[in-house]
Amino acid sequence: MLPSLYAAWLQELLGGPIPAETRATCAECAMLAKPGEQDREGLYFNPVMKCCSYVPDLHNFLAGAILDDDDPQMAEGRKTVEARIRAGVGVTPLGLEPPADYTLLYRHGTEAFGRSQTLRCPHYIEAGGRCGIWKHRESTCATWFCKYERGSLGHLFWREHLHPLLAAVEHHLAIWCALELGLELDALHSLLAEARAADPESLQPEQIDRRPEPEKQRRIWGNWRGREMEWYRACAGRVRNLSWRDTAAICGCEVAVLARLAQKAYRELLDPQLPERLEPAPFELVQIETGRLRVVGYSRLDPLDLPAQVFQVLHYFRGRNTRAAVQAIQQEENIALSDDLILKLKDFGILQAPGPGG
Ligand code: SF4
Repeated sequence: MLPSLYAAWLQELLGGPIPAETRATCAECAMLAKPGEQDREGLYFNPVMKCCSYVPDLHNFLAGAILDDDDPQMAEGRKTVEARIRAGVGVTPLGLEPPADYTLLYRHGTEAFGRSQTLRCPHYIEAGGRCGIWKHRESTCATWFCKYERGSLGHLFWREHLHPLLAAVEHHLAIWCALELGLELDALHSLLAEARAADPESLQPEQIDRRPEPEKQRRIWGNWRGREMEWYRACAGRVRNLSWRDTAAICGCEVAVLARLAQKAYRELLDPQLPERLEPAPFELVQIETGRLRVVGYSRLDPLDLPAQVFQVLHYFRGRNTRAAVQAIQQEENIALSDDLILKLKDFGILQAPGPGG
C-alpha cells in the first residue's frame, strides 16, 4: 500500500490500480529464516530490523505530514521525527537528511543491508517490529520490496521507474515549497550550493560526531531559524492537496519524462504475453536437494525453487521458438510446461528474451 498522497498521484498518472505486491509481507517478514533453518547462503535478514536498515531522506512536506498527523498509531513515529529535528543534524529547509557518516557507511556496506543493526532506521519501532512513519514514508521505502509478484518486471517497474519518478518529485516539490513559503534568497542559495558541493566520501569532524552546525543552520534557515517544525508543517500544507496534474506542472521536464517511462513500465507490468523466443539466462544455483533446486535469477532476495526436471529441460529453449520448445519438451521428455510457469521463469530471470541477433 502506497502512502495516500503518492497513491492518488499514481492513480491519476497510470489510470488504473497497481497490482499489490503480496509476497513482501512486512508484518510477517518473508526474509527471516524459519525456526531451525540455517542461513548458509546469507539470504536472510536480521529479525531486529528486517529490511529497515536505511535512514530515509524525509523531504520537508513529508516531515510536515508526519508532524501534522494526530493518528494515535503515528504517535511513536512522530516522536522519532521530532527527535531528528531536535538533534539538529541534517535538518534543512528541504527536509531531514540522513547523517553524513551513516550515508558513507551505507554506501560501502551493501552486504550489511538487512543484517547490521548499526544500519537500523531511527523510525523503526522495535516493539511490534514496524515502521513508525509508514503512512508518509518516502520514495525509497514506498517502492522497495524484497520480493515482487512478477520478479524482475516488478523490480523494473517499482525500482527503475516509480522510485526515480517519486524521488524527482520529492526533490522538486521540496524546493518549490521553499520558494512558496518565502525562504530568504540567500538562505536558498546557500542551501542549494552546499548540497551541490557536498562530497559524500569526505566527512568533517562535526559530521563524524553528529554535532549540529549552528553557523550552517543560520545560513540555510534564514528568517525561519528556530521554527523548523512550523516550517515543515507549512510545507505539508502546500503539498497536501496537489493533484498529479498540479505536481507535474510544478516539477517540470525531468519529471514529465520519468512519468512517461513509468506509464510504459506499468503497461508492461500488466502484460502477461510470452515472448516469441526465449533462452536460458545466466542464473546462480544456490542449493541442491533431492529433486529440487534453488536458483537466483533477478535478485538474491528472491530465489526460486524449481523441480530438477524443469531445470534439465531449459536448454530446449535455446535457438527455438517458445512454442516449439514447449512442444519438444512435451514430446521428448514427456513434461508439460504451462504458460504460467514459463512466464514465471522469464519474470524471475531464469529464461530471458534473446538480445539483438539472438
Ligand atoms: S522509514 Fe519506515 S519503512 Fe523506511 S526504513 Fe524506516 S522504518 Fe523502514
